[in-house]
Amino acid sequence: MGKAFEQLQPYLDKDMALTTALTLLEWDNETLAPADSITNTSKAIGILSQEQFEAIINNDVKNILKELESEEEYDKLSQKEKAIIKQLKRTIRQLEDIPSREYKEYSELSAVAPAIWAKAREHNSYEEFAPTLGKLIEYKKRFAGYRQKKGEELYNILLDDYEEGINMDFLDNFFERVKEEVLPLLREVSKHNDTISKAYNTLSYPVEGQREFCRWISTYIGFDFNRGVLAESAHPFTTNLHNKDVRITTNYHEHNLESSIFSVIHESGHAIYEMGISDKLTQTIAGTGVSMGVHESQSRFFENVVGRSYEFWKPVYSRLVSTFPEQLNSVPLEDFIRGINKAEPGAIRIEADELTYTLHIMIRYEIEKMIFKDEVSLEDLPKVWDDKYEEYLGVRPASAAQGILQDVHWSCGNFGYFPSYAIGNAIAAQLYYHMKSIMPFDKYLLEGDIKPIVEYLKENIHRYGTIKNMKELLTDIMNEELNVDYYIRYLKEKYTKIYHLGMK
Ligand code: ZN
Repeated sequence: MGKAFEQLQPYLDKDMALTTALTLLEWDNETLAPADSITNTSKAIGILSQEQFEAIINNDVKNILKELESEEEYDKLSQKEKAIIKQLKRTIRQLEDIPSREYKEYSELSAVAPAIWAKAREHNSYEEFAPTLGKLIEYKKRFAGYRQKKGEELYNILLDDYEEGINMDFLDNFFERVKEEVLPLLREVSKHNDTISKAYNTLSYPVEGQREFCRWISTYIGFDFNRGVLAESAHPFTTNLHNKDVRITTNYHEHNLESSIFSVIHESGHAIYEMGISDKLTQTIAGTGVSMGVHESQSRFFENVVGRSYEFWKPVYSRLVSTFPEQLNSVPLEDFIRGINKAEPGAIRIEADELTYTLHIMIRYEIEKMIFKDEVSLEDLPKVWDDKYEEYLGVRPASAAQGILQDVHWSCGNFGYFPSYAIGNAIAAQLYYHMKSIMPFDKYLLEGDIKPIVEYLKENIHRYGTIKNMKELLTDIMNEELNVDYYIRYLKEKYTKIYHLGMK
């Protein structure tokens, strides 16, 4: 370690410790903290967030970084140190022009806002959430505005925060292809929807049995319970303190078997990524998944590409049947596979199937674009939302709770996040074709041996943390950048098979 880098260490350590504390508070809020606690707890969150801000955004750190920029010093740095500095600079760029008082106020607001959103959703009242949403949007516009270069679009700044190098030009093309290819496929599939029954899914499945099976399937795909926990929360999510403390949640519905199983597989995919970060990198600013897009590629790879395939279920379906014999004895594996892949346009994103999912994301992308280009007022948002659902999915949400209030993201201030899901889907499909070309992918699954698949991902993606960005990861693995064609091909092949459609 060079001398200059050594000087940086205390600041990095403080940032890491405060991140750990804030992550734990957030985890607690989502899982065990009583419903009324957040107004008081958010004060502590505001103070800790400001401390964290000031640990990194200060002249000492700036001066050390300047020193490290000299060629002589920079060449002495290890790959890990370079990754830390790159990440640190990225964070500083995002925050440095924001007055620390404003940052504290925003942190408090975004801690309280999810509770306000949840109540508004419960009351089915957009008006109840709109003022808070308006404030969050104002903060986001102002914060992005502080670092806006001449001619730069505010929304591109937010998109880049979640996925380096991704902007509206890329996403406009991406979603144009989705519109051209997925919408006609969906229309074709919808004509044959009565050929697939999933009546089994809404029978009664005692929660105890679901808990046991979910824990088992999570271990089966590689989640390590010595380094992770599975808890319950209103909305499934993953968080981590470091690579030996990775936490996932789900929720169980007695009359929806698939909900817990696929959310646990999804969150386990996120968790396996974080557990796979190298020991050298963990607990540093570079020791976490590189972006939300790459993160979603891992969760969706496990949930959909692997977890909804015949090959995956062939060796494990009997275990599910023996957990719920009365409900599933008369459902053959083939019918179960068709059931878990049934595509039906609906109003709710988190209930969406693989085929319609990206359309939900496209709608949010188009709306966020309008928000940050000042093309829509706060009052008109629910109508714009509903109109787009009608246009693309053919369904008009029955209420605000089923429409614009369905997602937690905006209440957390996460604007620009949604496209990560679409990017994740596309990366997952691209990885799938690549892995099939270099290893006996289906054979591993059929034999119940997922380890080589997980090891490959760990070796080529997980262990790097933020050392390589999405583009670098993909190019190093496949010699090709993100290409939406694989995703389109994947959906066409899969749904042609599931729905026995004529090949064309
Ligand atoms: Zn996810």
